[in-house]
Amino acid sequence: MSDLISIIVPCFNEEKSLRLFHEAVKKTEESMPDCRFELLLVNDGSKDKTLEVMRELAAEDSTVKYFSFSRNFGKEAAMYAGFCHVQGDYAAVMDADLQDPPDLLPEMYRLIKSGEYDSVAARRVNREGEPPIRSWFARRFYGLINRISDADIVDGARDFRLMKREMVDAILAMSETKRFSKGIFGWIGFRTYWMPYKNVERVAGETKWNFWSLFNYAIDGIVNFSHVPLDIASWFGLLMTFVSFLAILFIVVRRLLFGDPVAGWASTVCIITFIGGIQLLCLGIIGKYLATVYLEVKNRPHYIISESNSEDVKKIK
Ligand code: UDP
Ligand code: MG
Repeated sequence: MSDLISIIVPCFNEEKSLRLFHEAVKKTEESMPDCRFELLLVNDGSKDKTLEVMRELAAEDSTVKYFSFSRNFGKEAAMYAGFCHVQGDYAAVMDADLQDPPDLLPEMYRLIKSGEYDSVAARRVNREGEPPIRSWFARRFYGLINRISDADIVDGARDFRLMKREMVDAILAMSETKRFSKGIFGWIGFRTYWMPYKNVERVAGETKWNFWSLFNYAIDGIVNFSHVPLDIASWFGLLMTFVSFLAILFIVVRRLLFGDPVAGWASTVCIITFIGGIQLLCLGIIGKYLATVYLEVKNRPHYIISESNSEDVKKIK
């Protein structure tokens, strides 16, 4: 019996790269005689002809299943939809732009088969072609989140990984609405081998991320996997209380020893704005967590599928 590998491919405006991707993956499949591939293409509300390309591919190749969202729900939702429809013994997540080289799959499969690992994940060792400021922020982010959360996230980790079915079930059990896959993969544990590889440019089309969307994604990651910002807010409050207590003591003693001091309005205004700023900052931090709770409580579907060629489609999840 050959093993079935389900390959999840989130696609947003990938009309130019999807065919190239399909070709490359098919070539890889030929080089792996003990495996069959199943392609789960998720169209995340593309504005171009991605859906048409998917329909054509599905007509030519019976191992292609496609799921088309009613609008753009984001890469995280697209990956989740893929995981919900995995039928294989193994699953892999891959970008459609060939930045996750399919050539790594045979080696990943071999490593999992050796029994030593439950998943093999790709880790890029260079950040060439990326603006230096982005790399700098990325490094700080990985350093920070590893210190303040349980999720073990490796610098340069991509979402590209091959994993056992057990891991897919664990991922599905994490049903939170605001998803941060790098954190989820790290949080569920399992034995993971990090396979280093050299970053490559995407084959066609362009990246959907800019600095701010990445920055916000990083904040989501922190809010979803760490309570440390809340602790910092409370400690800040405690510290300020202590400092103001000392200041009151100082003023009282000065009043008793030297009589009425000349009041300085400038210092008072500075103190008020300083404390006001800190209060707003802490409120903002609490607000971030509250917004996350609000979103989870509403329990809205992760995605809505408007079209698919698969019979067992879970249209709304
Ligand atoms: N993607 C998606 N929905 C989005 C944005 C991106 O499904 O809203 C997909 C995209 O089609 C690609 C993958 O996620 O297959 C990674 O996106 P991209 O290549 O733009 O990110 P980068 O590789 O630059 O980090
Ligand atoms: Mg890419």
